[in-house]
Amino acid sequence: MSRFWSQRVHQLTPYVPGEQPKVDNLIKLNTNESPYPPSPKVLEAISAQVNDKLRLYPDPNSDALKQSLAHYYQLETNQVFVGNGSDEVLAHIFMGLLKQDKPILFPDITYSFYPVYCGLYDVEYQTVPLNEEFAIQPADYQIDNGGIIFPNPNAPTGRLLPLQAIEQILQGNPNSVVVVDEAYIDFGGESAAQLIHRYPNLLVVQTFSKSRALAGLRVGFALGHPDLIEALERVKNSFNSYPLDRLAVAGAVAAMEDESYFEASCDKIIATRNRLTEFLQQQGFQVIPSAANFVFASHPDKAAADIAQALRERAIIVRYFNKPRIDEYLRITIGTDAETDALCQALMEILA
Ligand code: PMP
Repeated sequence: MSRFWSQRVHQLTPYVPGEQPKVDNLIKLNTNESPYPPSPKVLEAISAQVNDKLRLYPDPNSDALKQSLAHYYQLETNQVFVGNGSDEVLAHIFMGLLKQDKPILFPDITYSFYPVYCGLYDVEYQTVPLNEEFAIQPADYQIDNGGIIFPNPNAPTGRLLPLQAIEQILQGNPNSVVVVDEAYIDFGGESAAQLIHRYPNLLVVQTFSKSRALAGLRVGFALGHPDLIEALERVKNSFNSYPLDRLAVAGAVAAMEDESYFEASCDKIIATRNRLTEFLQQQGFQVIPSAANFVFASHPDKAAADIAQALRERAIIVRYFNKPRIDEYLRITIGTDAETDALCQALMEILA
């Protein structure tokens, strides 16, 4: 077929999102959503907007949400940037802050959107191998670079990098923007947000999609030095990209305010993760220590692809990545107690 439009588009390798099945009654453990609903206060706040305010445009700056996040993280509002999901925040970062004349660095096993953004925005990159235990080695990031990005905990492994190791990376790279993507930080990790006071080159990115149970609302944010945030605002306003809508701002603010609900949901997910990890180990799985709302596990005797298929036949979907080094692993999102029981039962049958 003749290509009469840009050659460049054909060279893009788009992201393949996790499956969002259109049928009900599946146990869906494949895209790390929360198994629990958002706080009832979120629903009240959204209803109030629906009843009263939908005819009005949203605040283009989402000030209410920025204030709420600044208060929570003990920062100023000019240290907070918000976007329609952290994927959009990351897109602006790749577009505006990482594009330099040197390759950016990220781990060889990581969130698969990073190379996609690099392709889209012509950002050169170099991957840095994780060690044998899938851990990030700060010393490996001491090479000349145009920026650094990694999730903490990493995805899809769930492994957490301690704050002092993040500081080592920051100290070794004072002239690079270092982006810590904390999509899963609330399940046992400690946020790098407080390091912002000492490291003007740090950007912390978070999402409401996981621990706040609002994947459907699309809210993410970045925290950093006012200069970095100002740069992101310039990128956003140059795109004229959509501000958060009224429902998203109201829902996200309410989620931030209901701290006890948030903590209880996270605690429950952590407890279920511990129970599932123990079960998987009893069944012979090797499980990477996880600080996320998923586990990454491989079985010595049965191929991960076959286990994923056998689970699917039992209406349970988990994530399998057909990629070098991780094609023997399954990534399993932490579900409710009942979903976890069904998963354990199915695995016992499959492995019997
Ligand atoms: N970062 C990481 C590491 C993720 O796994 C995800 C979820 N797929 C995101 C960012 C994006 O999440 P969202 O756009 O829903 O905020």
